[in-house]
Amino acid sequence: MQEDEFASARRTYLKEENWMAEQKVSRSGFDITTLSKDEIERLAKGLNEEEYRILLDHGTEPPFCGTLLDNKKDGTYACRLCGLPLFASKHKFDSGTGWPSFYTPFDKDHLTEIEDISYGMRRIEIRCARCGSHQGHVFPDGPAPTGLRYCLNSASLEFFDENGDIPQKAQKKTGLDPSSFK
Ligand SMILES: [Zn+2]
Repeated sequence: MQEDEFASARRTYLKEENWMAEQKVSRSGFDITTLSKDEIERLAKGLNEEEYRILLDHGTEPPFCGTLLDNKKDGTYACRLCGLPLFASKHKFDSGTGWPSFYTPFDKDHLTEIEDISYGMRRIEIRCARCGSHQGHVFPDGPAPTGLRYCLNSASLEFFDENGDIPQKAQKKTGLDPSSFK
């Protein structure tokens, strides 16, 4: 191998190593590497106005209006923007608040918690750990066993039946098939 060929092969190798080091995988085996701004913008093209307002502009939908509030089917609630599973039907409960509520997430690694002091209240905002989209808030007044209430917007979630596949919408820079993502 020529000297410069070797150097270029090594550079490529190191780049890949680097990428591997940056890749984050959740406890349940999903890729939770932070998406790039470009990728988020590409995914956001598939949203309607209300979804965009909630997911990217941190909006809240009015209570008792969301389509998933009374959904009692067995399955998984995934991030509407990137498809990361965020909640499971077995953890859903009727909180009486008018928003879909869960007492624990699908996988703690799939949510980022951020202190939110807007509107003169101190609340913990929850965001999708992969794409950073706004999901709702978590409050310390939920039922056993966690005592937590994850209060969600229907518009930020997409429901998938128990046996349905959950498409992982984000694409990798390496050109890997997004279905190999899980
Ligand atoms: Zn997401």
